Amino acid sequence: NKQVLLKDYVTGFPKEEDMVLTSSTIDLKLSQGSTAVLVKNLYLSCDPYMRLRMAKPLVQSYAEAFVPGKVIVGYGVSKVVDSGHPDFKAGDLVWGITGWEEYSLITAPERLKKIKYTDVPLSYYTGILGMPGLTAYVGFYEICCPKKGETVYVSAASGAVGQLVGQFAKLMGCYVVGSAGSQEKIDLLKNKLGFDDAFNYKEEQDLTAALKRCFPTGIDIYFENVGGAMLDAVLLNMREHGRIAVCGMISQYNKTHRDPVHNLFCLISKRILMQGFLEPDHKHKYPQFEEQVVQYIREGKVTYVEDVAEGLENAPSALIGLFSGKNIGKQVVFIAHE
Ligand code: NDP
Repeated sequence: NKQVLLKDYVTGFPKEEDMVLTSSTIDLKLSQGSTAVLVKNLYLSCDPYMRLRMAKPLVQSYAEAFVPGKVIVGYGVSKVVDSGHPDFKAGDLVWGITGWEEYSLITAPERLKKIKYTDVPLSYYTGILGMPGLTAYVGFYEICCPKKGETVYVSAASGAVGQLVGQFAKLMGCYVVGSAGSQEKIDLLKNKLGFDDAFNYKEEQDLTAALKRCFPTGIDIYFENVGGAMLDAVLLNMREHGRIAVCGMISQYNKTHRDPVHNLFCLISKRILMQGFLEPDHKHKYPQFEEQVVQYIREGKVTYVEDVAEGLENAPSALIGLFSGKNIGKQVVFIAHE
């Protein structure tokens, strides 16, 4: 059973050497009386919050730290090989938290979800129909309280969450601008994902001026994925009574000292509502979300861009790639066919 382990706690920018590829043996039959589920992993998901789990346990983190020397865990799509749990049987396709390995023993299978729709790519359950999808859905429709005609800005717009937020905002009748870190991503936003405009933040000398150019009358809604200097520039460009949904701050995840934000006074002067949120608090909305988004996919109203790495041995570099913007769309790792 090939596995990826965390070598030790990570400080600074993560490196491939922070993870080790190893192998162990696993019995593909459960022992008598076990209530666990044994799965074969098909796709693994690379998500930015995993970096927070690679750090020494921190008071400020919302994610429980990984254990050095143990297998990395994250979202994935798997097939049940053997089951001691009444809700699952061999052959079932499931998604949820699994290990970065070929086969995993899931001891709390009640947290796994059975895959309901197989007319969409299975890997979608790591992205558009998985945790990032629900994040975009709750963050946009509930935290941003959008109205038709409003102006919406999305950072890390071509990624797993951002590309969906932009498309939801277009379906709502908003004016949507996204930012990303390469020309290829900008073309994708404008030509495939339907954003009204997009800019490469790495090529802008002055982010405040770039946002002013894209939003001459200001931003009603900011979907925050990156933090740092971008947040400061956005605050200066927000309209009165604007809303900021704080989803993530990826520019800060590899820093031991987080950047200060200077323009928070704008919250008062412009009566802005800024709210952080976490997807796990909204799991009960999954069924409603799934029905809606599957319908959007079938009707061709939303599309989803994925970046698929091949094989467990390429999982560490795929994960690290999130922090330099190597991924174009949702980063997935293909492990095995059904
Ligand atoms: P993405 O698929 O967007 O991948 C990360 C992207 O972030 C990269 O491709 C890169 O794109 C961009 N990025 C990396 N480093 C920086 C930097 N220093 N400054 C600006 N941009 C950077 O990831 P997700 O869509 O999965 O996640 C987006 C955000 O949402 C993250 O902050 C994540 O932590 C958060 N999140 C929060 C959840 C919640 O419950 N609140 C749940 C899921 C995600 P580029 O080329 O544009 O630089």
